[in-house]
Amino acid sequence: APVLKVRRLNKIYGGGGLFVRRPDTHAAKEVSFDVARGRTLGIVGESGSGKSTVARCIMRLIEPTNGTIRLRDANIAHLSRKELKPHRKHLQVVFQDPFRSLNPRWTVGRSLIEGPVNYGQSPKQALKRAAELMEIVGLPRDSLDRYPHQFSGGQRQRIAIARAVAMQPDVLVADEAVSALDVSVQAQVLELLDDLQEKLGITIVFITHDLRVAAQICDDVLVMQRGEVVEHGPAGEVLGNP
Ligand code: ADP
Ligand code: ADP
Repeated sequence: APVLKVRRLNKIYGGGGLFVRRPDTHAAKEVSFDVARGRTLGIVGESGSGKSTVARCIMRLIEPTNGTIRLRDANIAHLSRKELKPHRKHLQVVFQDPFRSLNPRWTVGRSLIEGPVNYGQSPKQALKRAAELMEIVGLPRDSLDRYPHQFSGGQRQRIAIARAVAMQPDVLVADEAVSALDVSVQAQVLELLDDLQEKLGITIVFITHDLRVAAQICDDVLVMQRGEVVEHGPAGEVLGNP
């Protein structure tokens, strides 16, 4: 059964404006897809095609205008902030900027245990797991006592990934997660995600404008254009050899 099931998702941004009313933007139109456990689905498309809108809806940073987003067994599309809280744990995000999930004033260890401890794990247990995760993502154990700025960009992104994985999410959303990295570092982080998938069986929704990156990491790909899904299928078929 799919872990994430999106049906007829629509998002219309109001033109707003107090004096000059701009037209509304229908940024996501009838978007539907499934993500099966352990798979990586890429959402690709040019700038402005609606990728981020779909991603922000799934993460429930914004509320879709209509449609359903079924995470495990709950439709989270229209839940309130308070109602969302127990569901958030199951969906973790890695952004382009690792500082969106890492507090620069916290040690890596503190950032890694914060979520699990909030959800009831003992600090001791969480710290033990954090140390294991450092090894899994290829950083020395003593990284836990250091601060994010003491690492390279690629290492910081590994830490952000470890922080997300520490929550044992059902779905990991990677939102342009390697887009700010040099090509060689990109390849290493993609390899890490591949490795995590093999070891931990995580499910990934991978948002990217970069077709070559999508071809490297995705099992299936969904192509967006002007808010609509124009293609959806196995990465090899949809992308060919980008
Ligand atoms: P992508 O991630 O593929 O670049 P977006 O989802 O960011 O695409 O944007 C899709 C469309 O929605 C674009 O036309 C964009 O200008 C518009 N849009 C995005 N965010 C907003 C917003 N907060 N308010 C109004 N329009 C927006
Ligand atoms: P964004 O630019 O994505 O909107 P935020 O507004 O969340 O970022 O954060 C602004 C800055 O605050 C970030 O660039 C980062 O340096 C820092 N920051 C990020 N997360 C935290 C946090 N949990 N606590 C304190 N500072 C943070």
